[in-house]
Amino acid sequence: MSPTRHAAARALLSDPLTNKGTAFTEEERDEFGLHGLLPPHVGTLDSQIERRRNALEDKESDFQRYAFLRELQDSNEVLFHALVQSDLPRMLPLVYTPTVGEGCERFSEIYRRPRGLFLSYSNRHRIADILSDPAYDRVKVIVVSDGERILGLGDQGAGGMGIPIGKLALYTACAGIHPAEVLPILLDLGTDNHALREDPLYIGYRAPRVRGKDYDDFVEAFVSAVNDRFPGVMLQWEDFAGKNAYDLLVRYRDRLLSFNDDIQGTAATAVGTLLSAIRKTGVPITEQRVVLFGAGAAGSGVAEMLVQAMQLEGLSEADARAKIWAVDRDGLILSDVPRMPPQQVKLAHDPADIAGWNLSGSNMITLQDTIANVKPTVLIGTSGQKAAFDERAIRTMAEHVERPVVFPLSNPISRAEAHPADVLEWTAGKAIVGTGSPFGIAGVTQVNNVYVFPGIGLGALASGATTVSDGMFMAAARRLGELHEGDEGLLPPVTALREVALEIAVAVVEQAVAEGLATAEPEALTRESIAASMWKAEYA
Ligand code: NAD
Repeated sequence: MSPTRHAAARALLSDPLTNKGTAFTEEERDEFGLHGLLPPHVGTLDSQIERRRNALEDKESDFQRYAFLRELQDSNEVLFHALVQSDLPRMLPLVYTPTVGEGCERFSEIYRRPRGLFLSYSNRHRIADILSDPAYDRVKVIVVSDGERILGLGDQGAGGMGIPIGKLALYTACAGIHPAEVLPILLDLGTDNHALREDPLYIGYRAPRVRGKDYDDFVEAFVSAVNDRFPGVMLQWEDFAGKNAYDLLVRYRDRLLSFNDDIQGTAATAVGTLLSAIRKTGVPITEQRVVLFGAGAAGSGVAEMLVQAMQLEGLSEADARAKIWAVDRDGLILSDVPRMPPQQVKLAHDPADIAGWNLSGSNMITLQDTIANVKPTVLIGTSGQKAAFDERAIRTMAEHVERPVVFPLSNPISRAEAHPADVLEWTAGKAIVGTGSPFGIAGVTQVNNVYVFPGIGLGALASGATTVSDGMFMAAARRLGELHEGDEGLLPPVTALREVALEIAVAVVEQAVAEGLATAEPEALTRESIAASMWKAEYA
């Protein structure tokens, strides 16, 4: 065999997009010169799945399982995705929340092979060159983070890459986006996490975070390069810290087919789940009183979409806002506070609105004060503050409401505002509970963005839209709210996530058409055509 043929054979096995491992047939082994490089046994995808599942279960911890799955993804993409899709309820928590949190914290420890792109500050003049690699010719979906606000775990620097990798695995698993069409990107602009900077094994750009104009210039160079290289690409902003999350969304949502999953994806997921809960309680959305704890990217996104949902049911904007109360680290958000973050300004109540409230007398209006006075029907946590919904708060809520809706959404599990079992106990089982991470408790819904973002991306791409409108997110939320059947929980089971993604995509396309945003040919806009475009994990 010629040296070139030997090298091509090895390249075939070392590229995770082409490697089939023992499943290469005899004919393929002849054709590509693979004899000897593989053991003689010719396997099938099913037997490979079984072997890997056994090896996975032999691991001692979920973190080890996470690392094992990451290595498998880097060696054989079809097998990795086939294994994930073979058992979504088992695999999702291993490739995504909650285990991905530890995966980010210990990313440097398990770093083995390149996946996706690290665009570091020292390479700021090379972005276009880095993106020009022909390996990325097929890219349709990018998930990008700067690692500053990873789940509720704060600044993880370059380790934040675990999130784009994990989210894109779900794009493939749920929305059937081909693995060659996804690209995880980490904008590595340093870290303010001192422990990471001092860790000799840290793989990232070892410097304090770049901020201000230099940060903005870097992101501008990145967006321009992406627009030039990948026209029409779908870009998802992920786990940026509050102010940057907002600024980037506002600045770029009309320049690039893009959305911020923490703000818009969370909002559509939480509102969709709430609409499902409302079908259960029978109390219309216009009569809900909502308290939000943690008014950052996720909380304020949820609030704005709730306002829209209430307006669609006939309330004026002012009447809708009057029903939503937001509490942040300094207590209830009131309009007389100086220097409020922009996303909180619209959530602030006039101090006159709380005239007559009974207050505990501490130096701020606490969550407990707010619950006691608002008597909320819905309590949503997006604060990253473990156990913030204590027994007193939940019992106070339950005194006034027949079926309190309680969503402690913060991830990972270590940051959840309440344990769902406690909420159920304190309300004698009457609460309707949804959490961000899976707790494995019957009847408790996992209110996770995975119910929405894959379908948003799939639908936006299928429609050929150049922007993802608020209406598309509302359409996704409403469709999500209709999908659940049966008494237990509020959303379809995790096993149905592919069907959910298709439903959401169809709703997004219909909305794009209604708003005049769809540019794709009519035959590409049908459910059948979208379903047919979804890749399945099978060897070619
Ligand atoms: P963020 O940093 O933008 O917002 C967090 C907010 O909480 C900030 O406004 C902060 O001031 C506030 N906060 C901090 N300490 C507080 C305290 N003691 N009391 C009250 N408020 C306090 O982050 P984010 O993107 O909004 O995410 C917040 C949390 O929500 C994270 O844990 C994240 O994992 C979770 N989240 C869950 C989902 C989901 O799918 N369930 C989606 C998105 C975000």
